[in-house]
Parts: sequence; structure tokens; C-alpha cells
Amino acid sequence: MAATSRDDQSSSPSNKTCAFKEQDSGSCPGRKADGFDRCLAHLEPAQLEQVLEHLGPGAELDASRTSIDDRLLTQILRAVRDNAGRPVFGRASFAGAHIAIANFADVQFTGHANFRSAQFTEGADFTSTQFTLAAIFDRAEFTGHADFTNAQFASKASFRNIQFTGHANFRSAQFTEGADFESTQFPRGASFEEAQFTGSASFLGAQFTGVLFGHAQFTKRAFFARAQFTDCTIAGIEFNDTASFRFAQFPEQARLGPLTAHRLELDYAVFERQLVIEAAAASVSCRSTTWKAGVTLRLRYAEVDLERAALTQPSSVTGSDEPFRARTSIPGACSTSTRGLCSRSCPSLRTRARGYPWGENPQGERR
Ligand SMILES: [Zn+2]
Repeated sequence: MAATSRDDQSSSPSNKTCAFKEQDSGSCPGRKADGFDRCLAHLEPAQLEQVLEHLGPGAELDASRTSIDDRLLTQILRAVRDNAGRPVFGRASFAGAHIAIANFADVQFTGHANFRSAQFTEGADFTSTQFTLAAIFDRAEFTGHADFTNAQFASKASFRNIQFTGHANFRSAQFTEGADFESTQFPRGASFEEAQFTGSASFLGAQFTGVLFGHAQFTKRAFFARAQFTDCTIAGIEFNDTASFRFAQFPEQARLGPLTAHRLELDYAVFERQLVIEAAAASVSCRSTTWKAGVTLRLRYAEVDLERAALTQPSSVTGSDEPFRARTSIPGACSTSTRGLCSRSCPSLRTRARGYPWGENPQGERR
């Protein structure tokens, strides 16, 4: 089979590297096509045709480190189309590849999809793309818009150490077996609205500017520890497990809530601006949290731990009887109502401040 290899975990040049040389730019790092000494980009047209003819739906492909322009990608996708006209890859590696206009919309990857360190120079379209096995995009470079709307990740999805230079759109994406965005930066905004995270989700150390999570759902633990949020709206989210914002930084105006969570952790987080936090949760932990401009905590159901919290401006903790726009009930909380809509007299409303001067003062407000 043409241009195939199981050596797609590495993007380093080897004796499998393209023999093409240019006077100005030197040797080509592209993975050479099987049976030829050049990569897909540097084959003669007849040779490329020969390679593509050996592909088919579900074909394995190794195009590591290869420069792929719009025309070549179109040819490759055409060569792996199934009877319904949908491009289907088996195991595929584009690790370290330079892809000009990456139009992978509606493509299906039935094997491992490796885009590690790939460079998307003119935008990347992965709308409605299906990844059956692991999809790895670590250290990829996205220049321009990156669109993963409705993408389906049936196994691990890894987007570690990426800087999205354009808007990153993961609206309605489905992450089934874990999503990892550790140390990734979203400087031009991102949308995870209506995204579903069925496995655990990690945004450890991620940097967000203008992110939206409206109606996103996290079934397992969501980890935003040490993340930085600038001008962000973290609202309308349903966390079925713990949502951890430990050591997170909120240097600018931010909105946190309304949201629902089994447990909300804000320990050691630092909020520079005044804000209102609205949450329906079984417990809220604010140990050593710093609010430099004051906070209004409107909580439902929650046991609140404010031990060593730093409040330098007037602040308040209230048990809200206003409905939050939660979509489901809180696990283990109210037994007499759902959707966080019970009245102040509901026995499940047990907002308490522990470890802080106002002590046991359910639903109390003290300035
Ligand atoms: Zn080459």
C-alpha cells in the first residue's frame, strides 16, 4: 500500500525521508511514498497517480512532514472516498505536515489520526469530522480559523500545547473518552458551546481570551486548574462531577455562572475584578481564594468552605432563591425539586459559610 507506515508517532526525518532537494531550501523532510524515493508532494504526476490508485476507503496513509497544498489534499481525499462519497482513512499520519487549506470536513478517521506538530497555515476545517480512535493534535500550529464544530471524538482527543492564532470553534463537539487541552492558548476566542465531554476534560494551564461554554456538559471531572481566563463567560455549563478551578487566574472582567456542578473548586484562584458567581452545587470550596475587588456568591444547595479566603472589598454570600438556568438537577442535592428551582424554604437549600468570621449563617448576607 502506498505511503503507509506504522511509524507515524515520530515526525523526525529518517531514511524514509524524501530525496528531493532544492538549491535554496535544501532537502525535503517529507515522508517518502512507499516504492518511491520522494514524498507525495514531490512525485511526478504519473507517480502520484500510481500511489493514489492504491488507496481506497479506509486506507492507511503516512504523509508526515509533507507539504500538502489544496490540490494535493483534494486528490488524497478523493482517493479514499467510500461509496457514499465520504473520505475514510484508516490509520493516518499528518504529523509535522504543512497543510495549506486543511479541509477535512465530514472526513472519517477509523484508525489513529496523528496531526502532532502539523502546521495549518490557512485555516483548518474539521466540521463534523469523526475520529474513531485517538486524535492527536499536540503542538500543532493553527493559523487562521480552526473549526471543529460537530466533530466527534470517540476516543482520546489531545490538543496539548497549541496556540490557536485564530478563533477556535468546538461548538457541539463530542468528546467521548477524554479531552486534553493542557497548556493550550486561545488568544482570539473560542467556543465550546453545547460541547459534550463524556470523559474527563483537562484544560490545565490553558489560557483563554473570550471563551464561551454555554450549554456545554461535562459528565466527569473537568480540570481548569491554573488556567487563565481573560474576558470570559463561564456560564450555562452543567458539570455532573467536580469542576476544578484551583489556582486559576481571572485578571480581567469575567462571568462565572450560572452553572451547576456536583462540586465547584475555586481554591487558591485569584479574581482581580469584582464579579458575581452563581452556582448550584452540592459543595463549593473557596479555600485561600482571593477576590481583590469583592464578590457576590449566589449559591444554591451548596456547603461552602471559605477557609483563609481573602476578601479585600465588600462581599456577600447568599442562598439564592432565584432560578438558575440549569438543565438538570444537582446530583445528591434537592430531593423535592429539580433544576434548582426550589424555594427558600426547601430543606435542601443549605448554603452555609464555614471557616469564615460570619460562621454558621445560612443564607446570610454580611458586608
Ligand atoms: Zn518531498
